[in-house]
Amino acid sequence: MRDSSEFDVSSELLAWYDRHAREMPWRVSPADRAAGVLPDPYRVWLSEVMLQQTTVAAVRDYFMRFTTRWPTVQALAAAPDDQVMGEWAGLGYYARARNLLKCARVVADEHGGQFPDTYEALLTLPGIGPYTAAAISAIAFDRPETVLDGNVERVMARLHDIHDPLPGSKPQLKDKAAAHTPQARPGDYAQAVMDLGATICAPKSPACGICPLREPCRARKAGTQADLPRKTPKKPKPTRYGHVYIAQRRDGAVLLERRPDKGLLGGMLGWPGSDWSDAPVETPPFAADWQVLPAEVRHTFTHFHLILRVWTTDLPDDTSPDGLIILDKHQFRPGDLPTVMRKAHDLWRGR
Ligand code: SF4
Repeated sequence: MRDSSEFDVSSELLAWYDRHAREMPWRVSPADRAAGVLPDPYRVWLSEVMLQQTTVAAVRDYFMRFTTRWPTVQALAAAPDDQVMGEWAGLGYYARARNLLKCARVVADEHGGQFPDTYEALLTLPGIGPYTAAAISAIAFDRPETVLDGNVERVMARLHDIHDPLPGSKPQLKDKAAAHTPQARPGDYAQAVMDLGATICAPKSPACGICPLREPCRARKAGTQADLPRKTPKKPKPTRYGHVYIAQRRDGAVLLERRPDKGLLGGMLGWPGSDWSDAPVETPPFAADWQVLPAEVRHTFTHFHLILRVWTTDLPDDTSPDGLIILDKHQFRPGDLPTVMRKAHDLWRGR
């Protein structure tokens, strides 16, 4: 039996990918790629930004809506901020949406609408970090960059039976991944490893029996695959508390605030509210008979859990608090709110 030093991991994976590549709206299939079809860097970039910390299933509809509405980077660059933030609502991590727009505008204004084609140049664009720069340069421009996402980390940890825990083991896993990255078809190869991790070498119950890497896989031989990759335990997330205030006028208009550009949910529409802390101060946007709803909103962000109390009242016809926005009922779309604010809306509407 050959081990991973003799076994040609990239050739086996590419042959597997030729037969089993997942279809995705932003992907050029291996057959089309072989026939000379080139990926559109705009679509590759958009999908990679959307996929950060989110699943393919969650991204598909967003990607289709974005590319139907804004089919080129120039079209996206020219879009009003509100519309882009509204389409992004629900995907989370709103700083990414703001950087998405900034990046589109830099590419449109400073690069003539063409994405730069090297890792180093891509890294200079807003919102593009090492992972995304490597992914775009491999997938869109077929450069032999090493793309290391959670799927690739898992495959490498198992293939080489690496027991050092993440995130400390990242450099070691990256070295292993780099050693397998081929000069020929590096874009297809990057997608092949990610597909293998997403479909065969899954976090739970890896399907080793049908895996193209079963022969050299050291974890399979040692029986340790289900334990890998190991992870350093995370600290438990703290819980913060807050208040939001929902006021509606007799004609259905509602009172909203645009959150500051910097900070969590930056630039998004939301209900006016308090700070989020251990002991938030009640700060209704105007004096009225505010009633608290009997249930609370619970939401988890990357670094903390949030519990919100939701207060409601009627918005008098002659009240228009400074710095806040009144949207009439035809302009107000609950789907444009970030998820935590939509949960408050749904609680209020009794859903
Ligand atoms: S043999 Fe099993 S553990 Fe090893 S890479 Fe394949 S699916 Fe993963």
